[in-house]
Amino acid sequence: MTIASVWAASANRAPATGRLAESARADVAVIGAGYLGVTAALALAAGGARVVVVERGALGEGASALNGGQVIPGLKRGPAGLIAQLGRERGEAVTRFVMRSADLVFSLVEQHGIDCSAVRSGWIQVAASPAALPEQRARVAQINERGGAAVMLDAREVQRLLGGRADAYCGGWLNREAGTLHPLNYLYGLIRAALAAGAQIYRQSEAVQVAWQAPAWQVRLAHGPVLTAEQVLVCTNAYSDDLWPGLRQSILPASSLQIATAPLPAELLAQILPQGQAVSDSRRVMNYFRIGPQGRFMIGGRGPFRAARRGDYDGLIRAMCRLYPQLRGTAVEHFWAGQVALTRDFLPHVHQPRPGLWCVLGCNGRGIALSSALGTAIGGQLLGRAETHPFAVTPLRRLPLHRLHRLYAGGLIQYFRLMDRFA
Ligand SMILES: Cc1cc2nc3c(=O)[nH]c(=O)nc-3n(C[C@H](O)[C@H](O)[C@H](O)COP(=O)(O)OP(=O)(O)OC[C@H]3O[C@@H](n4cnc5c(N)ncnc54)[C@H](O)[C@@H]3O)c2cc1C
Repeated sequence: MTIASVWAASANRAPATGRLAESARADVAVIGAGYLGVTAALALAAGGARVVVVERGALGEGASALNGGQVIPGLKRGPAGLIAQLGRERGEAVTRFVMRSADLVFSLVEQHGIDCSAVRSGWIQVAASPAALPEQRARVAQINERGGAAVMLDAREVQRLLGGRADAYCGGWLNREAGTLHPLNYLYGLIRAALAAGAQIYRQSEAVQVAWQAPAWQVRLAHGPVLTAEQVLVCTNAYSDDLWPGLRQSILPASSLQIATAPLPAELLAQILPQGQAVSDSRRVMNYFRIGPQGRFMIGGRGPFRAARRGDYDGLIRAMCRLYPQLRGTAVEHFWAGQVALTRDFLPHVHQPRPGLWCVLGCNGRGIALSSALGTAIGGQLLGRAETHPFAVTPLRRLPLHRLHRLYAGGLIQYFRLMDRFA
């Protein structure tokens, strides 16, 4: 069993960066080199700011190197749900921002010539039960009313596009603005673009303390150097630790597991997802799948609230064989897990606990497009531009009973699985 992700095994050469060797000064210090931190750094450096990014591990240590590579311009809630949650004005603004987020990813790829197999092949959300169809129909209408490109699919069309078992799903919808890419190569490309714009990015440089030492912020690194900056942007997402009080406890870190098969023979590739769409199902505890690098079938889903063991992946192998009986007996070569930051309101959170200190986290498993758009916007905001993103700046709040989250979140997932089975 290979524990490394399929992305690490098929990645381009990592950008050449090292550890921050000595104390440094910057206009903005960014902590965490995932999509959010790096797109913010790119926007800041392109706007003329001196920006230094520090990353705890290797480049590509967090979710940005481990995800499913599905570029989806949407949140858990559709336009009507966002308006009900946030009011008309902010709900519409968040909808517009999110709907444009895939455009931003594909234009960053084009603008910076990022070699990451980006394809705008669309994303299908399949309906696991007829009960999901009315909401999907309403969502398609709401998206199209706002200039989107969504379409409902009946069960036969879903079967034709998926190429799996004929009775697996009773329909679904396709968002044509979505697509797929190689997530780690996308991150590497963003890092190269940020370096070319003048940002400094350091790996193996863990921030262990953030403190105001008038007249500036100081970020102390585990190996000694201190980064002094006017502003600090913390982008540590599900990998947040105790760097700033309450940050780790403001989100629920949930593990998502993935597997990838051996490269499929041409006759299976002609049957399975022949048009290359990414797919998620409508269940509360959902699976997502696509064809990945070298023509491998990849599928992912919710993992346990502890380090994953080999047996935890068996459910994904069963789900794959249920959906695609033609894959029974195909070798599974890659198994890996990453952490998703969940928030209670399913929205990303922007906090400013002190003047000059920003924390942005919680992309709820939809972070390729959203984190790229939000990082770019936050970079613009720190440059002093007005109206860069529609999310409210909220107080940093700990989730109640966070210490018991493994217990209650685990219980909640079992309950959701049961509801999915009944549906
Ligand atoms: C298995 C999986 C599948 C997913 N699939 C999809 C998908 O198909 N489509 C989609 O849109 N989204 C998906 N997501 C979500 C998406 O990957 C994330 O939302 C996105 O990558 C978040 O980016 P980020 O920059 O906020 O965080 P991350 O990429 O997690 O980056 C945070 C970084 O901060 C670093 N860090 C933490 N603490 C410190 C410190 N003290 N000092 C320095 N550095 C620190 C970490 O090492 C890490 O590199 C998936 C996530 C997972 C885990």
